[in-house]
Amino acid sequence: MSGLYERHRAVTPDWLSLYYREPLEITHGEGRHVWDAEGRKYLDFFGGILTTMTAHALPEVTKAVAEQAGRIIHSSTLYLNRPMVELAERIAGLSGIPDARVFFTASGTEANDTALLLATTYRRSNQILAMRNSYHGRSFSTVGITGNRSWSPTSLSPLQTLYVHGGVRTRGPYAQYTDERFTDACVADLEDLLGHTRGVAALIAEPVQGVGGFTSPPDGLYAAFRRVLDRHGILWISDEVQTGWGRTGDHFWGWQAHGQAGPPDILTFAKGIGNGMSIGGVVARAEIMNCLDAHSISTFGGSPVTMAAGLANLSHLLEHDLQGNARRVGGLLIERLRAAAAGVDAVREVRGRGLMIGIELADPVTGRADPDAAAAVLEATRENGLLIGKGGGHDTSALRVAPPLSLTVAEAEEGAGILEQALRSL
Ligand code: PLP
Repeated sequence: MSGLYERHRAVTPDWLSLYYREPLEITHGEGRHVWDAEGRKYLDFFGGILTTMTAHALPEVTKAVAEQAGRIIHSSTLYLNRPMVELAERIAGLSGIPDARVFFTASGTEANDTALLLATTYRRSNQILAMRNSYHGRSFSTVGITGNRSWSPTSLSPLQTLYVHGGVRTRGPYAQYTDERFTDACVADLEDLLGHTRGVAALIAEPVQGVGGFTSPPDGLYAAFRRVLDRHGILWISDEVQTGWGRTGDHFWGWQAHGQAGPPDILTFAKGIGNGMSIGGVVARAEIMNCLDAHSISTFGGSPVTMAAGLANLSHLLEHDLQGNARRVGGLLIERLRAAAAGVDAVREVRGRGLMIGIELADPVTGRADPDAAAAVLEATRENGLLIGKGGGHDTSALRVAPPLSLTVAEAEEGAGILEQALRSL
């Protein structure tokens, strides 16, 4: 690394997090692999935090970026650009939202900020419901609604946020509950909360909590929430920043896994659509999208180079049925990881949907979440040429597996083998 880490530390804030005792400098990638500055090759089971949706250095995306950059990089969103209109058309069609309008931003944070702006304006209320343990971004408003305390240091949110139970049953006081009892208790809690509030604008939820460690609510819980919220006219914002584009295998959008009667009122996306280029966005029906009474643009949202990348990436995803691949290979991988974890006392749970798999680690004696074990597995897998992620609640005790959606069966087997070895050495 030739002193790069020291130079990095000298110019960046202390709270900027980096993985690994000896930080990794990535220089290039291809397919499902990346290489570090020393020339070591890694199988990438984290896909740039779920941004590399199809594959590293996908030729179609590289070509689209180069061609568009050669014509013009940025023309201002005050003018039209063809790739933006075409990508908006495709996303509107895929969203399932009737009379859908799409607004592009440059990140997931900005997408959620926009969703909050729309919901609070439309409903004329600054009250937001958010899930415990959630993560929605790093701006003032999205930090304010983020339920995961290790990512939300300020309590000075411009919004009044009410936190709702329902993301994680397997931890804390709910561990003894059945899914059904947990669902009933959460719905009763929500009803009780709404009985004491007036004019809540929206509930925002990740279909699978990403930073929270790839946890899903029990089947049917969000559908039950939705019925309650619909009665109160409260909007549903589905934060699909990690779960969109078929990552969860069975469904194109994460919300579809929850038995809800229809699409969300507002859907936010980012990460995978640009394959690493900065694209975020919001989809909502026209009535909601058009409720703002002031003009607004995002200088970089909808920029032609990113839009060209998004179009090429989305076309590849659809033409190669990578959602189907996520379902098939993800199904094999989760079974393989469950078998690998069998008999490892430190593994509390292997869970997930498609290529979004979480492995929860806990101290076998005390039953408490074990962040040291998660850190040890990360180091050991890196040593053997595999990159994975971690997450969870305050404790960061879950491993996160989220490779590009083109993962092959052989690669799934190779990565699972490396993970198995690391888990067994705990
Ligand atoms: N929402 C979710 C569910 C996320 O996981 C993230 C980032 O990890 C964000 C929003 C924020 O996205 P970005 O980092 O692009 O601002």
